[in-house]
Amino acid sequence: MRILKDIDRQTFKDRFATKDDCYNFLAELKWSEGYSCKRCGSQVFIKGKQPASRRCSKCGYDESATTGTLFHKLKFGIDKAFEMMYEIVTSKKGANSIWLAEHFGVNQKTAWLFRQKVQLAMKSSEQYPLEDEVHVDEFEIGTPQAGEQGRSKSDKKVRVIIAFEHRNGKSGRGYAKVIQDYSSKSLQPIFDHHIKKDAIVMADGWSGYKPLKEEYPNLEQTLSDHGKNFKMLHIQIRNFKNWLRGVHSYCNKEYLQNYIDEYFFRFNRRNHRQSILDKIIMRCVEHEPVAYASIKLHAT
Ligand SMILES: [Zn+2]
Repeated sequence: MRILKDIDRQTFKDRFATKDDCYNFLAELKWSEGYSCKRCGSQVFIKGKQPASRRCSKCGYDESATTGTLFHKLKFGIDKAFEMMYEIVTSKKGANSIWLAEHFGVNQKTAWLFRQKVQLAMKSSEQYPLEDEVHVDEFEIGTPQAGEQGRSKSDKKVRVIIAFEHRNGKSGRGYAKVIQDYSSKSLQPIFDHHIKKDAIVMADGWSGYKPLKEEYPNLEQTLSDHGKNFKMLHIQIRNFKNWLRGVHSYCNKEYLQNYIDEYFFRFNRRNHRQSILDKIIMRCVEHEPVAYASIKLHAT
């Protein structure tokens, strides 16, 4: 399987110069473990009628490179989709849907929906929990609702719990989750999904963390002291808030988790930028198709 090593813009353009290049790349990823007909299971195929599609030589079923992936039923060319993804994962701030719509000449709703799909593919696999030392804290973020001008009211604030890894004195990876409240029950999922049981976890003095010590024996609680004890963590929280405000100045409450997932997908790969595009394309190939209709249209 060819892996795109360099995502320098020109390299990207050379690599995916035509639609066929894109389809061939998808086909390689999709059938990297070998071909098996979806209808009859036969492993013998001939070239199909669509670009890079494979036609079962036994039953004749012709399967395209995008069937069964997030690229199924795209509303624009596959080459455009690749270029949009390139912008989403590599541009410094992560191209928002307004910019994408203008730049690629599609309508904003279409760009927004495609972005939502890409965000789905950015969800954590939960396979690599944070380890060593992990700092945990909660914060609130305002999300203006439709038609509302200016500052959001306090009941529109969304609560978020964030966990950041510290390894050898440096920032490692991070994750965050939208939570309903600050109860132990709400705080627990980020621990279950993203923090190793033997990690040294640092949290503030909030009583909601206490019951979690049963499963996390190395959980320590210390007073925040106006942020002094969690300096690195608070810098990370500020960075995240600035990104959300600056790039996606408008984000409806129900989509906030998707933006959080996008942020950390990029952040956690900040030192692997040469492979991040491959990674997201691979995730989109592995992800089952999502109907446009099933992504609600509140935040267009
Ligand atoms: Zn078949």
